[in-house]
Amino acid sequence: MPRPIQAHIDLNALENNLHVARRATSARIMAVIKANAYGHGLLRAAEALADADGFALLDIQDAVRLREAGYRQTLLLLEGFFDASDLERVAEYELTCVIHSVWQIALLDAYPRRAALDVWLKVNSGMHRLGFAPAQVAEAMETLRRHAAIREITLMSHFSDADEARGVSGQLELFNEVASAYRGARSLANSAALLRYPATHGDWVRPGIMLYGASPFAEISAQSMGLKPAMTLSSRIIATQDLSAGERIGYGGLFCADRSMRIGIVACGYADGYPRHAQNGTPVLVDGQQTQLLGRVSMDMLYVDLTALPQAGAGSEVVLWGAGLPIEQVATAAGTISYELMCALTARVPVRV
Ligand SMILES: *Cc1c(COP(=O)(O)O)cnc(C)c1O
Repeated sequence: MPRPIQAHIDLNALENNLHVARRATSARIMAVIKANAYGHGLLRAAEALADADGFALLDIQDAVRLREAGYRQTLLLLEGFFDASDLERVAEYELTCVIHSVWQIALLDAYPRRAALDVWLKVNSGMHRLGFAPAQVAEAMETLRRHAAIREITLMSHFSDADEARGVSGQLELFNEVASAYRGARSLANSAALLRYPATHGDWVRPGIMLYGASPFAEISAQSMGLKPAMTLSSRIIATQDLSAGERIGYGGLFCADRSMRIGIVACGYADGYPRHAQNGTPVLVDGQQTQLLGRVSMDMLYVDLTALPQAGAGSEVVLWGAGLPIEQVATAAGTISYELMCALTARVPVRV
């Protein structure tokens, strides 16, 4: 028998979550499948999300794989091309490119003559990551419009606080002011803005995290919005230990029993992608019952409290996150976000659909 850890990817959940996005907007949906579809598997996720109007990702190689698999939708490269040598494949596979910097516009002269290029011109409306400053947009737009290689220009921006108290109003106002001079399509909304701010929807929304069934908001559960977890990380208990009061477990003796306790050893560690910084008390499901992580997570194993679960033992099923245990709760207990946990799932974890 192989080591019992596995990640189950629920394709129906992905489909369901795309429908939730559809019901929330009349804009076209650009499903964000960067980072191996947030750890869910690029082609696997694309197949379940095939009803999306487009796919956004980073690597040309991945976009090529999608084209070769038969996807006809808009394929948007979120960081565009990285050098002139990328342009040949951008043309051949009809990929759409974000243009975020002047150096990219300069490279466009190397674009093959035979093909037309659709671009998304990125405006920095306050995130200060990628994009043209509002005062530079007019010039960039003019250059692109006059460029023989360019067909359609979509204006885009990205929010820094759509999931936070600050919200989107400052960035949205600035973007609308800049965009008012142009007629083309617009795209602003990530999952949080899609769910919370209809005024941001424009022509294309760009949901990521919600498609995988996690909430972008700290204070609203995914379930309450109709989202279903697409990834469930599970394993089994492979050993148990009985502790007396005063005995410690694991590296550094991070947890000390204050009474007699029973502990389960789970075949899952940070080399599988479980966060090493998860605290004592992080929720874990054993045989469907909630209990807690204890001690420091090791490379290949972690400890759970079985004191209140006398029926549980070697062979018991353990859910680390996913169905029945929202990944957001695990992320919070580890000082991170669901996105990072999903992406951090490692290659050694077998995936089952
Ligand atoms: C990752 C990303 C998204 C999706 O964000 P979520 O919070 O996962 O919905 C949208 N737009 C851009 C530019 C991104 O990089």
